[in-house]
Amino acid sequence: MPARFQVREAKRVAALLFITALLVAACGREEGPGPMDATGDNDAGTAQSTLPGASAAGGVRADGTFRIVATTTQASDLSAILSEGVAGIEITPLMGAGVDPHLYQPTESDIRAMNEADMVIYSGLHLEGQFDAVFEALREQGTLIYTLSQPVKDAGYVIGGFVTDQYQAGTDDPHFWFDPRNWELTVTDLAQTLAELDPDSADTYVANAAVYGAQLQALFAWADEGMRTVAEGQRYLVTSHDAFQYFGSAFGWKMTAIQGISTEDEAGVRDIQETVQFVVEQGIPVLFVESSIPPNTIEAVQAAIVASGGAARVGVRELYSDAMGMPGTFGGTYIGMIAENVLTILQSYRCAGAGAHIPDWPQAIEIAPPQELLTVDCGSE
Ligand SMILES: [Zn+2]
Repeated sequence: MPARFQVREAKRVAALLFITALLVAACGREEGPGPMDATGDNDAGTAQSTLPGASAAGGVRADGTFRIVATTTQASDLSAILSEGVAGIEITPLMGAGVDPHLYQPTESDIRAMNEADMVIYSGLHLEGQFDAVFEALREQGTLIYTLSQPVKDAGYVIGGFVTDQYQAGTDDPHFWFDPRNWELTVTDLAQTLAELDPDSADTYVANAAVYGAQLQALFAWADEGMRTVAEGQRYLVTSHDAFQYFGSAFGWKMTAIQGISTEDEAGVRDIQETVQFVVEQGIPVLFVESSIPPNTIEAVQAAIVASGGAARVGVRELYSDAMGMPGTFGGTYIGMIAENVLTILQSYRCAGAGAHIPDWPQAIEIAPPQELLTVDCGSE
């Protein structure tokens, strides 16, 4: 076993022991029924669910309460939308706006919340890269864990025509939500799962999913129309990390990023140089900073282009990649996050002199972009 791997394995075992100790301590303090007692089945080994995204049993308790812990902002948003109008449900979000899920370490209170949950909802495909040990421990004790990416993975990622690049071969890209059609698969599957776990409210979950699914279809059509108004040869999205392959594939754009599909390995000088060379060769006019990643790598690329006599703008706003915006804002919803990204890209390209048209916002969608997102000052960058 290589030394580096041994160190990593030792760290993993240490983390697992630490988390197991925390879980045991939390169990000792817990009064009343724990998550597994709600189903009357305490044997995690035989409690496997037949639901596609779920492992183990769980769900609503005998007293009608249903505690859900959601890791990412997307997971929290969808859980809240599907459970609107359901009494007794309690959603605890772990990550906030601007948080990088690849690097986020679960805190002691996060672990306690997951231990006390009737269901944990996470994105999966190693997006939550620091959660492996805690999920392993939770699974061992029989906590119900639902993986948002599972129905999309089961569908083979064919929706949107996503093809993994050579350098990603063998690794599933975790940013599946960026094709609204993928998200629709997740919406349907999670609603069915919630309906089975909470049969009294089954109709509400399924009805919420139908209403929301129709809005996702309208969002996709709007975004697709807008993104394709940029000339085909100019459709390049340059970002800090490679989060937009599904997005690009959905709307006919090519992606390039300084870092790969995770932010766990830092960007090096060579990554910066390669991006500079690519941007200059392709004549790409705009680079985008992501809200959950420090701007320094994109700024370094821009500075190198300017130093060599070239020009590249930075987008008129940051893009949402792995984290959505602040709760209560347009970008703090899944639909708003996708729509704001589309607006930001099209407006930035227009500022750079490219032709781009923003279609009228669909009436079928309940929320709408606020005026400040529709008007933009191109500035003098
Ligand atoms: Zn990412």
